[in-house]
Amino acid sequence: MRHICEVIMAAGIVLAGSTGGAGEKGNAVKTFTLKNANKIVARIMTRGATLTELIVPDKNGKPANIVLGFDDLAGYASKDNQYFGCTVGRVANRIAGASFELDGKTYILAKNDGENHLHGGVKNSLDKVVWKAKPFNKENESGVIFTYTSPDGEEGYPGKLDVTVTYTLNDKNELKIDFEAKTDKATPVNLTNHSYFNLAGAGADTIYDHEVMINADKYTPSGKGLIPTGKIEPVKGTPVDFTKPALIGDRIDQLIKTVTIGYDHNFVLRSQDGSLALAAQVRHKPSGRILTVHTTEPAIQLYTGNFLNGQKGKDGKTYKPRSALCLETQHFPDAVHHPNFPSIILQPGKTYRHTCVYSFSTESEKESPKR
Ligand code: BGC
Repeated sequence: MRHICEVIMAAGIVLAGSTGGAGEKGNAVKTFTLKNANKIVARIMTRGATLTELIVPDKNGKPANIVLGFDDLAGYASKDNQYFGCTVGRVANRIAGASFELDGKTYILAKNDGENHLHGGVKNSLDKVVWKAKPFNKENESGVIFTYTSPDGEEGYPGKLDVTVTYTLNDKNELKIDFEAKTDKATPVNLTNHSYFNLAGAGADTIYDHEVMINADKYTPSGKGLIPTGKIEPVKGTPVDFTKPALIGDRIDQLIKTVTIGYDHNFVLRSQDGSLALAAQVRHKPSGRILTVHTTEPAIQLYTGNFLNGQKGKDGKTYKPRSALCLETQHFPDAVHHPNFPSIILQPGKTYRHTCVYSFSTESEKESPKR
């Protein structure tokens, strides 16, 4: 028996040799490095339980970091950080009017996206707080268990929420993210990971040459402020039909004059029973890298980095609009206002569970996704 992956605790996310920094609450931020037998390296830090780096070899074995990030904590704490690689919550995506009613009470949240609430709030949303972390090493896999207790009322949400996010990297080239949460009062919960991928390597100009398949026949169209209209419509005959693989560049410009200005859509996955099922696949022919996403969640948000603005990221790279894509497994946006969407209310005594698996292969391996 051998430990194929190793976990190295590094002092902070800053460049090698430096001593690291502090999170917003003054806690030291640590970064963990997971490595597998096939030269995949994942770095995850305690601020926001964030994936800061993901190095994956191409079809010729040449490694590249394929997720957007920053070299230091200052970058993550700056306005240039558009949720790069983090854990999003308590409620990912938008809540219309930044308020909701639950059990006869109205809860007021931060308006941080026009009149609406986005990705859990402003100060102590799950992407900004420093989590506790415990690394583990097993045969053929290793990982880190991140925990955070969000006090009752934090960012306006009811109930004390105990959240666990476990990252596991194994030798099947799977990076698995398991989310769990428990509450002491009924509260909405919709967690996700917000990694931005460019399979050519982070910093490459666009993702137009990424061929995407999404295992969904329907989506939830949105209106003003990117708030869902409440309808569930077929993708057939629209630029968001990815039932057959299609290049991002082929139809993205048809969306310029719409509210989303690019892809920023919530897809209703074919599998709605909570089992781990294929959600999406992205193929990048030039590098041969293939990303496959499986999830237990009922939906996935495809976001093509339309609001990236040329900010400077890791290794001096520039992140232009449409230079990366997010595939965020989650429940439907604004579910608190749409009784026809699956509920995101977590009750005391119940456990919220969500698994997202990002797996990697290369074209030459001719791997087909498991179904
Ligand atoms: C949303 C985008 C938003 C972005 C912020 C994505 O999850 O779909 O509309 O601008 O997050 O980084």
